[in-house]
Amino acid sequence: MSVQQNDFSKWYIDTIQKADLMDYTPVRGCIAFKPDGYELWERIQAEMDRRFKETGHRNAYFPMLIPESFFQKEKDHIEGFSPELPWVTEAAGEQLEERLALRPTSETMIGHLYSDWIKSYRDLPVLINQWANVFRWEKKTLPFIRTSEFLWQEGHTAHVDEEDARKETMQMLQVYKEVVEDLLAIPVYDGQKTPSERFAGAVDTYSIEAMMKDGKAVQAGTSHYLGTKFAEAFDIKYLNKENKHVHVHTTSWGTSTRLIGAMIMVHGDEQGLVLPPKMAPTQVVLIPVGPWKKKPEIVENLDKVFAELKAKGIRVKLDDSDQSPGYKFNEWELKGVPVRVELGPRDLENGQALMKARDAEEKTAVALDDLVASIENELTVMQTRLYDKAVAFREENSHTHVDTLDELKAHIESSQTEGKIPGWILGGWCGEDACEENVKEETKFTTRNIPFNPPTEKKTCVNCGKEAKHSVWFGRAY
Ligand SMILES: [Zn+2]
Repeated sequence: MSVQQNDFSKWYIDTIQKADLMDYTPVRGCIAFKPDGYELWERIQAEMDRRFKETGHRNAYFPMLIPESFFQKEKDHIEGFSPELPWVTEAAGEQLEERLALRPTSETMIGHLYSDWIKSYRDLPVLINQWANVFRWEKKTLPFIRTSEFLWQEGHTAHVDEEDARKETMQMLQVYKEVVEDLLAIPVYDGQKTPSERFAGAVDTYSIEAMMKDGKAVQAGTSHYLGTKFAEAFDIKYLNKENKHVHVHTTSWGTSTRLIGAMIMVHGDEQGLVLPPKMAPTQVVLIPVGPWKKKPEIVENLDKVFAELKAKGIRVKLDDSDQSPGYKFNEWELKGVPVRVELGPRDLENGQALMKARDAEEKTAVALDDLVASIENELTVMQTRLYDKAVAFREENSHTHVDTLDELKAHIESSQTEGKIPGWILGGWCGEDACEENVKEETKFTTRNIPFNPPTEKKTCVNCGKEAKHSVWFGRAY
């Protein structure tokens, strides 16, 4: 069995280290993003930000330190977050009168301010997003996927009524789905979280869920309808057209740097990192091979290709360092560069170059005259190919034939014997927390979401056998 199949977490750590994406620091659970890792975040940021602005949102920034009393105002919120909060208790050598939390999310600070900013129906909707770092002190950490400090965006909006707020909640979930599928080439199931998996303080939480190559789930983005809970806690009221003071309805929604981890776990292969072309910091690398230094035409040709690609906005590098071609191939492969082009004396004689896509087995010979067009085409084709492969993998490992807890246990066991991953199962659920809890205890499978478009409707609860209210994706999760 390969390392990726045999020991997925070792494969993952090796992959991100060899690709030089991050480094550990002496602060537990806090990583440094190296330039190749940070650029992945910048690409996600750029596309998300474009979509947020297109849908009428603007960016703002709120403080990182949040007074303890703010958390006490919303009961569910403090219960959900208090176990993970780091606190600042002292400054300038003096004990603070009130301790300050490093934000785990900003509903409370923003709620406090919105109560001042919003006075009339004319002030609504408020459509604000923040790009920031947040802290959630995690017991078990994994670079990009779960860290004590991470980068994210959090949208916080306020609306005149439930209808408008719910429309916003669903709109932003859809934006997330489109960006994750189109830019990161990761297929996701969109749906609603069960009450036990809801965001602390939300009325309804919706998510997009992605399947990693080890069959585990990553919650790739969430969007919450908060009702009037935070509006009541922070007294956010407005004067409506009937001259009455009423509470606003709020939403919040977020995606984070864990998307980087998800992308690595969805597309990576035995050799390591595979980057979708739209995400890759370097999309194409040009490498002279053979005794190329004796033939200046080789680098001249590559220079020309380099200039043409660059003019088209393609991120290209020419590697004319004095390392051996084999060493260079390996280095760029570990970095997940989508397309590699080789040109040596014999290729030049034949009027061609060799091109290799990161996820392809073979190199292909391409006429020099067609090279730029072929590279451009390959970048487009590869983006779609990676998405299609991920869809096929997910379909293969999304099981709809499991109806009872015993069948689920048998399914997990037979997967193990056959050296397969258990993937996810679509199970019926009666709506009782206890049933969800029991499935988790017995199998470590948790509810991912209630998909909007389930492949089939399940009739009975996978745990108790009573009538099912919902069909739910169950799987192990990060
Ligand atoms: Zn049940």
